[in-house]
Amino acid sequence: MAKAEDFDAVDVIRVKRDGNRIPDPMIDWVIDAYTRGVVTDEQMSALAMAIFLNGMDREEIVRWTMAMMNSGERLDFSKLTKPTADKHSTGGVGDKITLPLAPLVACFDVAVPQLSGRGLGHTGGTLDKLESIPGWDPNLTSEQIFDMLENGPGAVICAATSGLAPADKKLYALRDVTATVDCIPLIASSIMSKKIAEGTSALVLDVKVGSGAFMREIDQARALAQTMVALGEDAGVKTAALLTNMSTPLGLTVGNALEVEESLEVLAGGGPEDVVDLTVSLAEEMLRLAGKDDVDVRSALKDGRAMDRWNQMISDQGGDPQAPLPVAKHSQDILAQESGYVSQMDAWGIGVCAWRLGAGRTRQGEAVQAGAGVRLYAKPGDRVEKGQPLMTLYTDTTERFPRSMQALDGAVQISQSKPTDVPKIILERVDASNL
Ligand code: URA
Repeated sequence: MAKAEDFDAVDVIRVKRDGNRIPDPMIDWVIDAYTRGVVTDEQMSALAMAIFLNGMDREEIVRWTMAMMNSGERLDFSKLTKPTADKHSTGGVGDKITLPLAPLVACFDVAVPQLSGRGLGHTGGTLDKLESIPGWDPNLTSEQIFDMLENGPGAVICAATSGLAPADKKLYALRDVTATVDCIPLIASSIMSKKIAEGTSALVLDVKVGSGAFMREIDQARALAQTMVALGEDAGVKTAALLTNMSTPLGLTVGNALEVEESLEVLAGGGPEDVVDLTVSLAEEMLRLAGKDDVDVRSALKDGRAMDRWNQMISDQGGDPQAPLPVAKHSQDILAQESGYVSQMDAWGIGVCAWRLGAGRTRQGEAVQAGAGVRLYAKPGDRVEKGQPLMTLYTDTTERFPRSMQALDGAVQISQSKPTDVPKIILERVDASNL
């Protein structure tokens, strides 16, 4: 006879709907029963919305995170002969930092097991970007990951193995289509359940703030960072967070192959200043947490060591690092309507534009266009002349241009005086000492 269930999903939903704390045994049950398919998607949607509206207290978030982590396997890197460090971004526009960062940190004998995801809404996904490299395969077994970290390039960027936090896989996809993404307890537990299960000993969180981020206000981003740092430290993972500006896209490219191209510039010792500065700062944080705070990170970008690691990392996963990257079939320039200084280049508008051009998906499982996206020629603070191209839009399907261009309405502002308030890229740092 089938074992009776301990609770009823409707009772769990009612507890949170009425603004109460969900008791620990109920949390453990609902996550397990959802993973087993006993709690249905519509019941979990109602519960996610109740959490979105009524929040969770610290203990509830800890329990929810641990239940999600326990829904699957845990990786174990303790037998590696070097320390491990990982980075996770809460998602942004033009955020290609993982690509140069993982091989860069590996140059200093710290293993980087970077289990990554696909795009969520208007934000890009690391796997979608890397798949624009001909032949590159995101799927590795735990043994292959271990071997690349110990005997190969020392860095791996791949899809999470199917057994890792399966509750999050289901819930992540459900939140994407039920307007329950931008919620601190749900984001914190989603990210930290995967990162703790992944078995890294050090973790740096890049918590994005601004129009292109899920957290638009710095207070919300700080609260999210503090929640995640506390969850990591409680689970024995050395954790720190940088709050970073996402009011304007990172770098000058948004879109899959376009962002790989810019990452290669950084690995070759060039690239836009904001991308280089953030890559170096995150690398320094990861290395510091891994016990290596006395290294010259920038030198590994300048002298080709990081590029060598990248080439090895890509070819170990079947990719051809020398193959030309895909280019979209069609392009269209957007011109400056007046002369002056760019005072705003809005991350949200440009992210949505790139998404509509085909760089992201509108339905689960849809293929993305490798060449689609936006190339920028100016950023806030830059001088532009009337008629000069501000950006080029790329897509394989010309019918996508009109709706993509609508997303740019009001995204670019030009002022007559040079703006004095262009925000810095790194806004704040959170670690165990300032929780
Ligand atoms: N990244 C995740 O892994 N989960 C979220 O909920 C948001 C960003």
